[in-house]
Amino acid sequence: MSSIKSTILGFPRMGSDRQLKKLVESFWAGKISETELVEGSKKLRAEHWALQTSYGLTEVPAGDFSYYDHVLDTAYSVGVVPERYQNLDKEGGIQAYFAMARGLQNKSIGVDVPSLEMKKWFDTNYHFMVPEISDDQQFSLHSTKVVDEFKEAKELGYNARPVVLGPVTLLTLSKAAKGSSSAPLSHLSKLIPVYVKLLGQLAAAGAEWVQVDEPILALDLDAAVYEPAFDQVYSEFAKISGLKYLLTSYFDCLGDNLAWAAALPVDGIHLDLVRGASDVDAALNTIPADKVISVGLINGRNIWKANLNKQLETLNKVIAARASASAPVWVSSSCSLLHSPHSLKPEAGHLDEETLGWLSFAEEKIEEVAILAAAAIDSSSVEAQLQSNAAKVLSRQQSERITRPAVQQRLASLDETFYSRQAPFTERQQVQRSALQLPLFPTTTIGSFPQTAEVRKARAQFRKGALSPAEYQEFLDAETRKCIEWQDEIGLDVLVHGEFERTDMVEFFGENLEGFVFTKKGWVQSYGSRCVKPPVIFGDVSRPKAMTVDVARFAQSCSPNKPVKGMLTGPVTILQWSFVRDDQPRSQTAGQIALAIRDEVVDLEAAGIKVIQVDEPAIREGLPLRKSDYETYLKWSVDVFRLATTGVRNETQIHSHFCYSDFNEIFTAIKGLDADVITIENSKSDLKLLGALEVHGYAAEIGPGLYDIHSPRVPSVEEMAARFAALQKYIPAENLWANPDCGLKTRGWPEVKESLTNLVAVAKDARKQHA
Ligand code: GLN
Ligand code: ZN
Repeated sequence: MSSIKSTILGFPRMGSDRQLKKLVESFWAGKISETELVEGSKKLRAEHWALQTSYGLTEVPAGDFSYYDHVLDTAYSVGVVPERYQNLDKEGGIQAYFAMARGLQNKSIGVDVPSLEMKKWFDTNYHFMVPEISDDQQFSLHSTKVVDEFKEAKELGYNARPVVLGPVTLLTLSKAAKGSSSAPLSHLSKLIPVYVKLLGQLAAAGAEWVQVDEPILALDLDAAVYEPAFDQVYSEFAKISGLKYLLTSYFDCLGDNLAWAAALPVDGIHLDLVRGASDVDAALNTIPADKVISVGLINGRNIWKANLNKQLETLNKVIAARASASAPVWVSSSCSLLHSPHSLKPEAGHLDEETLGWLSFAEEKIEEVAILAAAAIDSSSVEAQLQSNAAKVLSRQQSERITRPAVQQRLASLDETFYSRQAPFTERQQVQRSALQLPLFPTTTIGSFPQTAEVRKARAQFRKGALSPAEYQEFLDAETRKCIEWQDEIGLDVLVHGEFERTDMVEFFGENLEGFVFTKKGWVQSYGSRCVKPPVIFGDVSRPKAMTVDVARFAQSCSPNKPVKGMLTGPVTILQWSFVRDDQPRSQTAGQIALAIRDEVVDLEAAGIKVIQVDEPAIREGLPLRKSDYETYLKWSVDVFRLATTGVRNETQIHSHFCYSDFNEIFTAIKGLDADVITIENSKSDLKLLGALEVHGYAAEIGPGLYDIHSPRVPSVEEMAARFAALQKYIPAENLWANPDCGLKTRGWPEVKESLTNLVAVAKDARKQHA
């Protein structure tokens, strides 16, 4: 059994201190040269391979590094460079690559090209660049990045396994270029030879195994289309002499796809046994004995220490079942560690010892893989490590900091009255009308106002202790007052306090609730050089005291005549943008957060706040990968939103906000939230929204965004009026609101002032026309 290989599917690229972020951003700013960027990145890769090897991994991935995104890298490697970037590309270097990633606006050379579209990578919080395939798409071997990185690792003496994103996944994640209509996958036959050429170079460079990532195998696939596509690809790959292929998929089970995937002419199959544990038995029955099984037992996308004894049982079960198989078993991470922070080391001294003992970031996960592999050969060799792991796992199970019986009991004791408003929407609408006295087409904003340099500076000073709490509060109050008075002056109808006290809509609540901890350097890549540091939900969530009531009360006091909205983040969004505990169902954690938000909603109402917005921009992105899991997810997400928002009287108006308008898959759920008013993104996708409204109908009040806040451009009255008129064809006038499409925190005051003044004018004109 000494043939057990231990490896991971990929390593985070950023570096222990986000060195890569600094490198690429300095390069973009013209502060370092391309050579310095290349050399700096090379050094990082070397450090990462050294780290992996130091824990005893027998093989390391190469090619998992990226300056920006691995999907973009792959597209670029096979020559998928849309026409608008081709002139830049002719100049060589990485200009075109970065232009595809983030657009390029350079007046002096007369270039102004937008970036490719960005999309979420499966159900993670990582985003990839969407390749565009034209009807007459040609492919060519355009970059040998993966070959170069493989050689680099080999020269440094590492036993490396090149990683490539598979062609079927690449095309499935692509979209047809503007003006083209063919399905990207229909170009597969032309793409295969380019991959074959690339693989040939890897073979020539001395690669033995190649990891081909095909994560679309975790999705519902039409076998009639995909089985032949995969078969065609891997039959061609099999002809290249000297290479072996590990076919990997992750983030969910292979499910129905397993039967045909197992029969593909590859040499090994990776199983994500964290998310796809249900695959084990079927996999052991169907994967032929001459194929390696790579078992992904260490969760690559969460931050909890693995229960090694439990994972070892699964590993031993697989090994026993494969005792007579000719191919060995490998131990690995469930998916790439790209979605984990780099290392726990910087957290020592920041997090308490007990919490530290519960966690495992990328570096620690490598060690876990190595311990499992060693234990499978001879568990006595790692007895001390296994014991220490068991002690920490037990400490987490038994810690009093995790379980709050009162929270658990409260959630368990709720009856259905906690999930519905006192009266149905139509009745509420009547009482809200008389309570609020809003004009037709009420105007409002989504919550945040510009986070100016002064706001950020004051916060930094407060954190350093240079401003006292009282001084900081005074500053915030002054900002809020100015903001409210200005909104009132230009004639907005429902005002907001501006969210100056918040850096982030999830972090703010996490910091004010029990059950959360914040890491010092727990960064994960979100897209390109952007990293996020998600809060960690480790225990039962409760609200020690009101979180937003003082701010809301103060803001309302600045506006004697108009309602000010209370602003909260919803339970699903808080869950979705955090690292969530894995010792109870997500729905239960969301329920606990919902109770805390519910208490806040009730307190806001008691403080005289008549309109309360509970933002849920992340409901749609939390959708599971498999359609069969949608219903369960949508049911509990709707439930927790209702739990959070139904504690109020009929007069109190509940708003919610979503950062998208493509509701087709979740429209029924959106209706089920039973919010009085929803505001949504619309300005970039009128058609999708109007189509959904036409098909599904929507009876409550709604404010589709009248302009795109993601750009500094000021929308004219005419342009917003045209959009508003179009909306009136689909939405009854008495239900229609006028608002921007998201919060304004990333904008500057000058454009916000002009844009909102125009928006108010649009509503006023529309009222006149309607009268
Ligand atoms: N209330 C938040 C804001 O205005 C909503 C942000 C969001 O939708 N992502 O910033
Ligand atoms: Zn938004």
